[in-house]
Amino acid sequence: MKPIEPLAVLLEAKEGRAQLRQQIAGMNRPSVSLNLNIPGFPKSNEITHKFFSICLDELKMFLKANLVTLADKDAHCRVDAAGDFFLVPVKAMPMSVREIKAVCETFEEKHACGRFIDVDVTDENGNMISSGKAKLCFYCRQKPADVCRHEGMHKTDELRSFVFSRMEDYCRSRFEIETASKLASLALRAVLTEISLTPKPGLVDAVSIGSHTDMNYRTFIRSTSAISAHFTDLVRAGFRFNGKQAGKALPVIRNIGLQMERDMFAATNQVNTQKGLIFLLGLSLFTCGMVYGRHGAFHPEVFRELIRDICRGITRRELGTCKDTPETHGEKVFREHGILGARGEAEAGFPLVFDCGLPVLKAHGEMTDEVLIQAFLSVAAQNNDTNIIHRGGMEVLNTFKRLSFNALNDFTPENYRKVIDYCLKENISPGGSADLLVVTIFIHSLLHS
Ligand SMILES: [Zn+2]
Repeated sequence: MKPIEPLAVLLEAKEGRAQLRQQIAGMNRPSVSLNLNIPGFPKSNEITHKFFSICLDELKMFLKANLVTLADKDAHCRVDAAGDFFLVPVKAMPMSVREIKAVCETFEEKHACGRFIDVDVTDENGNMISSGKAKLCFYCRQKPADVCRHEGMHKTDELRSFVFSRMEDYCRSRFEIETASKLASLALRAVLTEISLTPKPGLVDAVSIGSHTDMNYRTFIRSTSAISAHFTDLVRAGFRFNGKQAGKALPVIRNIGLQMERDMFAATNQVNTQKGLIFLLGLSLFTCGMVYGRHGAFHPEVFRELIRDICRGITRRELGTCKDTPETHGEKVFREHGILGARGEAEAGFPLVFDCGLPVLKAHGEMTDEVLIQAFLSVAAQNNDTNIIHRGGMEVLNTFKRLSFNALNDFTPENYRKVIDYCLKENISPGGSADLLVVTIFIHSLLHS
């Protein structure tokens, strides 16, 4: 037996909606409404609210894209006994109500959860425009929905859990897509901010090629455009990674990282502009995806813990005695000086980012060029940058660190100039610290977005 009470309230809610439609017809306007097709009672809960609000945004954008203009200020948005509901008049336009109805049908048909959505259209007289098509039952997909409903073919509880689980999946997949594009955009902004920061010691900036001969600002623009195309893939891979052993994440990250390297070399005519950055930022984007996937928001401590878990043993495995011939600068520097470089920084959970770079940005709030340079110096003063050791040796690194430290403590154009001049004189480029500055800017923007 169906409970009587909810039915009476449901009828009352439907009557209220009909009156609203008549009010709009009274203004001689057609209307469009959105509501959800929820079996049983109650018709709304936390999942339906979330799903409805996503669908509503999507519908509004879809109608706008199809040149159906809504009178938003006269819209009604409410939750009643019949569930989540939106109703809006359509502004006068050179389009018939049948054409509007066709647009709404296309929206339902193209939507991944379109069978749970009803987009209704009424004409200027308040008459509902029917599609004339019988919808199939969303559960069995064999009989028309009306037939299954009238004959009580499916248990209400089963239908409800089916609908809610699909809606939850849909909300989660939308959240994944939105998170990925937001993080990719912030990461790209961080990379471009670092490249554009001018002047920089020994590094390529907007006006100088620093201590380099084979790359300039444009090379970095090309390289960044190539690698940034993979940023969303990294976030989404992290979002979906549900392996219990975080160590299993590295091959997944490396796989995308190798594609980025391939595209970087193709875009730069085989110049290595951002290999170190691909490692640090790739790891960061993937791990952020994991944090958002598990917690729905960014938590710096969870992020650092995951980075440590993912990279546990990476220095021992990749820099240890396993390899006969060292391949990268980092590997060579480790052999000669025992410096762990970017891998060591990652394995320790980015202490240079969190303890040196971020406090500077946090203290100043706004990210002006001066603040960014100070954040860079704060990292550079502590970082055993393998790029510098490779080109200049340990003594040059120590002098560079001391000059950076001085310039940070007494931040004057003269002291900063000394760091720049020293890099040019020794033909060194602190690329490792520049990469860590990118990660610092990225994390800072996550904490304040
Ligand atoms: Zn059915």
